[in-house]
Amino acid sequence: MINILIATGNIHKLQEIKSIMGNFTGFDIIYLDKSFQAEIIENGKTYKENAKIKMDGYVKFLDENPKLKSGLSLDYIISEDSGLEAQCLGDIPGLITARFAGGNASDIENINKLLDMMRLKKDCMANRRAKFICLACLYDIKRGKFHYFKGELNGLISSKISGAGGFGYDPVFFVPEQGKTLAQIDSSEKNKISHRAIAFKMAAEVIKEMEQL
Ligand code: IMP
Repeated sequence: MINILIATGNIHKLQEIKSIMGNFTGFDIIYLDKSFQAEIIENGKTYKENAKIKMDGYVKFLDENPKLKSGLSLDYIISEDSGLEAQCLGDIPGLITARFAGGNASDIENINKLLDMMRLKKDCMANRRAKFICLACLYDIKRGKFHYFKGELNGLISSKISGAGGFGYDPVFFVPEQGKTLAQIDSSEKNKISHRAIAFKMAAEVIKEMEQL
């Protein structure tokens, strides 16, 4: 088995990544829940920098906890940074997607801020185009190498909330090909088409190639 640590504290992302990577045989998906205790400050200027900052946080934590680290026998670690970009707003919220309405803002507060801003901007009446971006950082521990993978999902920001599935901005992210928001489609369907699915499938293919699986 190839032991892969998913370096995220976001339970929703973790569930999606487990389901995306779970389709690959030979992978053992590992995560640290409450045992990971370190503050990660996402102050990078790009998604790539933020994904690396998260990776560095996990690597440092594991180095400081050698017992835990050796017990895990890790082969790879994957971190990710993601965000939403609305075209008519000049590609915001972007890097601050998670904290758009403030440091501890809930999903609904973030969504409401986005919808309010779009309501007030004339350009947003005709142009609802948006994309989700996921930048995954794969650390190949044996070879000491970092690889980066980018996934994008294009869609439209709907003017009202629809659906109860998913997380984050899913209830307002409308996927024209599906005729539904990400919160209305089945999670298995989201995990086939999402920005996260695209980035993590590429990472999984590289692992398969490296390990000749
Ligand atoms: P970060 O990667 O921790 O900076 O957080 C990215 C934020 O983007 C999340 O907290 C969500 O609000 C949003 N986001 C990222 N991916 C998705 C998704 O698949 N659906 C809905 N919201 C997402």
